[in-house]
Amino acid sequence: MKKRLFTPGPTPVPENVMLRMAAPIIHHRNPEFMEILTRVHEDLKYLFRTTQPVVVLSCSGTGGMEATISSLFKQGDKVITVNAGKFGERWGELVRIFTGNCVEEKVTWGSAIQPERLAELLKAHPDAKGVCLTHSETSTGTAADIQTLSALIREQSDALVLVDGITAVGAHEFHFDDWGVDICITGSQKGLMMPPGLALVAVSERAQDIIKGQSMTQYYLSLKHALKAHAGDDTPFTPAVSLVIGLDEALQMIKAEGIEHIWKRHESLADACRQGCNALGMKLFSNSPSFAVTPVWLPEGVKWSAFNKALKNSNGITVAAGQDDYKDKIFRISHLGFYDELDMLTVIGGIERALKEINFPFEIGAGVSAVQKAFLGN
Ligand SMILES: *Cc1c(COP(=O)(O)O)cnc(C)c1O
Repeated sequence: MKKRLFTPGPTPVPENVMLRMAAPIIHHRNPEFMEILTRVHEDLKYLFRTTQPVVVLSCSGTGGMEATISSLFKQGDKVITVNAGKFGERWGELVRIFTGNCVEEKVTWGSAIQPERLAELLKAHPDAKGVCLTHSETSTGTAADIQTLSALIREQSDALVLVDGITAVGAHEFHFDDWGVDICITGSQKGLMMPPGLALVAVSERAQDIIKGQSMTQYYLSLKHALKAHAGDDTPFTPAVSLVIGLDEALQMIKAEGIEHIWKRHESLADACRQGCNALGMKLFSNSPSFAVTPVWLPEGVKWSAFNKALKNSNGITVAAGQDDYKDKIFRISHLGFYDELDMLTVIGGIERALKEINFPFEIGAGVSAVQKAFLGN
């Protein structure tokens, strides 16, 4: 059976990217590789909409988050984190380890932090050295208004603006420079159509200055090391050579499609996916939906284990489960990265078949029809 991956990381990898990575390995000091890395550094600036360096770390996205917190802050530094789900919670866990001074703002799952609330926090904590945000909270499929939040932080404080863009970069409109963001992180296995293994971190000028002045608390996951090497289009340690080569291929695809078109495509796929779910009588979870992943309440009487088994075993489809309190309550359909309109028909069609198999009542074809109409009009 054909395997069909609809999870928000790892995401499907295009054949040309896999083929580039299958070529015999080359040495990382070889001019051929240096040329590729230089081009990757340049093209990452295009992706993040920045003129500032974007460093390539050999680790998953979380490694980029850890490098950020450990390189920018020292013991005692106060950092505000917004916890609106699993990944915002991770910011807080990292801050507590590296500075021991975390102001954590909890937000109900499925909602994003409101600017008025962030303004209150900034007022109450004028000594905060940074604010950690999540652009697309993958556990809840919820997008935050980073443009507005970043402008607010810039206006009201000197705190650095740190953005986990791991499922937002390549799905949501994002402008690192114009929005005044200081750090933005993504991971290779999300919107970049790559296997897991790389974290990409964009670093603003003022963040670079702070990092330079900081004593190092990490050796391997150090932005100080990474930035120094980046200035010579190099990496401090042996990079994940095959992944960097694959990333070069993926970035060529991204440039060929055009970043604005990619944002629009994700918005349109997300919209169609939501309409398909609605038409099947399923309720959506988020009140500020991400364009990367659509979380859906499991209909009453539908057990996650049976639904998932029917999706996987009879249809080859893997979607993501809910996390924490929402395990067995919601499921999440990803449309991040290498997806097109027919993929949305496939996943909604597969969901129809799985629901049918477990005897959930609905009108066959209602979801698929809604997806068709979303793309083709009535
Ligand atoms: C996937 C993800 C992470 C963690 O990335 P890993 O690659 O699993 O380390 C962090 N934040 C968000 C929003 C994510 O989607």
